[in-house]
Amino acid sequence: MMVSNVAELLTKEFGKKKIKTSKDYLEKYGRDWYKGIEAKPSAIVFPENEKDIQNLILFANKHKHPIVPSGGRTGLNGGATAANNEIVVSSEKLNKIEWISDTNQIKCQSGVITDNAKEFALEKNRMLPISFSGTSSSTIGGNLATNAAGAKFIRYGSAKEHVAGIKVVLPSGELIELRRDLLKDATGPNLIEIFYGSEGTLGFITEVTLNTLSKPIHIETILIDFCDINLIHEKILKKKNRDIISAVEFWDSNCQRLFDEEQSNYQALIELSSDSQEEITDCLEDLANIGTDISLLNTKQANEIWNKREEIPVKLADLDAYKLDICVPIKNLKKYLQEIRKMDKNGEVYCFGHLGDGNVHANIVSEKNLGMFRKKIYELTVSLDGSPSAEHGIGQRKKYIWSDFPHYSDKLKLLETLKKSMDPNNILCPKVFFN
Ligand SMILES: Cc1cc2nc3c(=O)[nH]c(=O)nc-3n(C[C@H](O)[C@H](O)[C@H](O)COP(=O)(O)OP(=O)(O)OC[C@H]3O[C@@H](n4cnc5c(N)ncnc54)[C@H](O)[C@@H]3O)c2cc1C
Repeated sequence: MMVSNVAELLTKEFGKKKIKTSKDYLEKYGRDWYKGIEAKPSAIVFPENEKDIQNLILFANKHKHPIVPSGGRTGLNGGATAANNEIVVSSEKLNKIEWISDTNQIKCQSGVITDNAKEFALEKNRMLPISFSGTSSSTIGGNLATNAAGAKFIRYGSAKEHVAGIKVVLPSGELIELRRDLLKDATGPNLIEIFYGSEGTLGFITEVTLNTLSKPIHIETILIDFCDINLIHEKILKKKNRDIISAVEFWDSNCQRLFDEEQSNYQALIELSSDSQEEITDCLEDLANIGTDISLLNTKQANEIWNKREEIPVKLADLDAYKLDICVPIKNLKKYLQEIRKMDKNGEVYCFGHLGDGNVHANIVSEKNLGMFRKKIYELTVSLDGSPSAEHGIGQRKKYIWSDFPHYSDKLKLLETLKKSMDPNNILCPKVFFN
């Protein structure tokens, strides 16, 4: 049930300044990057502190009117899209950031833009290795709510690995704080984890404390042209090299055509980083002997290739690509890519992604064959024990995966139980995950 005059009630309770209902605001803040769901929010609210968020959630419970937390709106699955008159609660004004010098940590309100947090760390001569093309707009709260990973996962893990603590307003309106800054802690299950990837359904993240890392002294970047994916895993990602490899980003020949180039079946950008130049030199010598074209890039060239890699999803979005965010076990990656090549006779499936962790984004650019490709690629993923969402979440767009991937049904049941017990009025993102 929803109230029809919700904007009026909100304005009465929270004041005109924090509530926006004009068309341009509703359009801009009503949806994320995914354009396939029409935005129809009832109002956009800009809370300025935790108390505002608590009051908004109490308001939503009182009126049984759903709300959608919203960060930088770079999500790819309609998680932050309000298509059913929901109130959008934006974290835009929650943008304070603080340095904790004793522990080299950053305390961020959840609306801090990811790149701002990274730059803040760099100013302190430290780094926050959250790395993907959306970080100039995404927020730290949104990164955790989507369990975001990206290019540096192979070395530094996903965004959640850097968390030392979070504050969350629960669907009951209660503010809680959870820590994860001890090496050992067996006080029951590690419940901080339920908020990672929860996509706004279990609570509104208001504050995040992040650990920063020391910056590696030496970084080298290489570009490889290759035909056989096993080359990367057998010859490059060997135990000896693995510790200094900080990214293995790859793209196929279809993606190369986006830049009017077609060099080889696959290209990979590999970043090596270490405090020891000797370690890097050893690794480079090792790679020089693997029997394929390798170019060592200078800083300017490396930046150009990184920019190119980051432009791939943007160019594909311009082509209205349907994005599948698949992860398969490394041992099955070769078969996965080979089978896609076999089914894609006309160059309509563009593959790129994070080779070191088996996460390949398969982008279908074909209105006519979309259904066929999606079905076949998902069947292939099931047969290879893969996941239909490695790092982009489910949102509203990909709820069908629960039936396409039957081995996730126990997880869905547990998620439903959790949702019912934590959010009995179903007020937080009711259309995400569930029908
Ligand atoms: C060009 C491009 C490239 C990308 N590449 C990658 C990649 O390589 N790896 C990767 O992991 N992801 C990638 N993404 C997707 C990425 O997961 C999200 O863009 C990002 O993490 C979402 O952050 P956001 O602040 O924009 O969240 P939004 O899009 O605003 O929201 C995402 C979800 O989180 C919820 N949410 C937002 N803020 C909060 C909060 N404070 N508390 C609770 N819930 C909240 C929303 O309700 C929604 O369900 C890419 C996106 C783009 C546009």
